[in-house]
Amino acid sequence: MALPEYFKQELKSRCQIQDIVSSYVNLKRSGKNLMGLCPFHNEKTPSFCVYPENGSFYCFGCHTGGDVITFIQHIERLDYLEAVKFLAQRAGLTVPEDGVDDSVSRLRTRILEINRESARFFYHCLSKPEGKAGLSYLLGRGLDPGTIKRFGLGYAPDSGFALVNWLRGKGYQPQEMVQADVARISKNGNAYDRYRGRVMFPIFDLRGNVVAFGGRILTDEKPKYINTMDTLVYHKSSGLFAMNLAKDTGSKQLILAEGYMDVIALHRAGFTNTIASLGTSLTAEQANIMRRYAEEAVICYDSDAAGQRATQRAIPILKNAGLSVKVVTVPGNKDPDEFFRHWGAEGPVRFQKLLEQSGNDVEYQLDKLKSQFSLETDDGKVKYLQEGSQVISKVLNPLERDVYAGRLAQECGVSKESILSFAAQAAAKERRHRRREEIRSQQQILGMKSQVNPEKQNHPRTAFAEENVIAYLFDHPDRSEALQVLLPVGNMVTTWNKKLYQALLEKTKNGAVSISDFSGALNENEMSELTRIVVQHRDAPPDWEDVKKSIDVINSDPNRLQNASEEETKAYFERLRKQKIGGTDDGTTG
Ligand SMILES: [Zn+2]
Repeated sequence: MALPEYFKQELKSRCQIQDIVSSYVNLKRSGKNLMGLCPFHNEKTPSFCVYPENGSFYCFGCHTGGDVITFIQHIERLDYLEAVKFLAQRAGLTVPEDGVDDSVSRLRTRILEINRESARFFYHCLSKPEGKAGLSYLLGRGLDPGTIKRFGLGYAPDSGFALVNWLRGKGYQPQEMVQADVARISKNGNAYDRYRGRVMFPIFDLRGNVVAFGGRILTDEKPKYINTMDTLVYHKSSGLFAMNLAKDTGSKQLILAEGYMDVIALHRAGFTNTIASLGTSLTAEQANIMRRYAEEAVICYDSDAAGQRATQRAIPILKNAGLSVKVVTVPGNKDPDEFFRHWGAEGPVRFQKLLEQSGNDVEYQLDKLKSQFSLETDDGKVKYLQEGSQVISKVLNPLERDVYAGRLAQECGVSKESILSFAAQAAAKERRHRRREEIRSQQQILGMKSQVNPEKQNHPRTAFAEENVIAYLFDHPDRSEALQVLLPVGNMVTTWNKKLYQALLEKTKNGAVSISDFSGALNENEMSELTRIVVQHRDAPPDWEDVKKSIDVINSDPNRLQNASEEETKAYFERLRKQKIGGTDDGTTG
């Protein structure tokens, strides 16, 4: 990973962290720094901080941190070198190629090529005899050639080897096809096509690469759909169908549909801001990606029972990501695709009307409850009130809460105040529950991060003192030599801090350092830990006096003496003796 220094400097100066991060996160200025909602965990109040001054970021909620390269590694799910390439491309720089191990990144490129070739192959099959079934299915669903081309739809013939042979002819190895998940290996060792006799829907990433496929079978065989498993270039928990098209519409609203055909139908009707989650229920990751491009999500799932359950599940996930949520219910138990086929030319206008009339998520949930209970009976009324108050308890805006409580009160003939007080109790209970969950998940994350310095657990006081010295040295490179004398590297107790201190002493010899100077040499968790040490000391920066106290703590840690040499031990006791007698405070250990 030896990238030349001049290149790293150039890259850093062209990729300012605040510019890069703000294309993913809405940042607001807060003093010298910028704050926003963390893209790596779910939160409602911002704990994600960007420090332009030293080119770093740190989240106080999930403790993820690092420099601009670490940020890209996390958010684009790339390894170090790929993140460097990603940023270089953006900045118009070429990465020097020599001496760099890029086997993973080469495989990733091969997989993307295989995917692109496969998509081409599937598309061409539509115009060949073996693809007739696929073409007639798509035309039968009312699609025109232009739409088929725009979405890159295709057909995988059912011979079992058509794609494998085609790719082999282009020079790809069966192992690479397996890595791309377009082929599997049979018991007797032969590669065969993963997709057979299926209409193919390619899935693009935000940069326009084909990263995966969904395939629909045309017979009654199960499963109806199969999708690419996770590969080096695809994670289904973050994939969104047609997001590559929807993001370019510039709309602050995204329509979330259920299936590929629904998305295509909505795009054809002019609603090109429609996307779908893929073969899974919506994930927090997908919602976070949506939030990067939009402020409002409109859920437009099937109106059958399964679709409505999926709607109920999706609402809190979207809201947690910071999106406002609306729900469109297509009348007559139809899915959007059926709706547009039914209404033909009138479809777009009718759907636009549905969009305009769509309620926000609270209205949707109250309507849903009202249809479940009979308000004619006392029993039905009580249940409606109880569950309705629960829904209202989740509304954060007090004015809104008041409006819905008023509506509920009127419908059931009770006082608004009783509903509001019930809702307040439910909200308090929910907050306690959420706080417990939050603490639990933070402890899990912290546990993972503290693997960077496992010895800290047994030496908390010393490790804290070590971090103090490291944070100080970071900001005062001119004190490097003085520190080396007062606290030689060998005196550090915890192994990780020792390594960090040594590297820092080396680097500060040449002047100022930044967190980026360590990227590439440290892994992602280590980068987070380094950033934590630096930024957590920013609010109350240690001064020289604090540092001297910290050095004393470290130098007098008995654990250090267990692995110290005889000479060091002698010096230690000598120092203790001196301190007792005269209190000389030179702090050296010989
Ligand atoms: Zn976070």
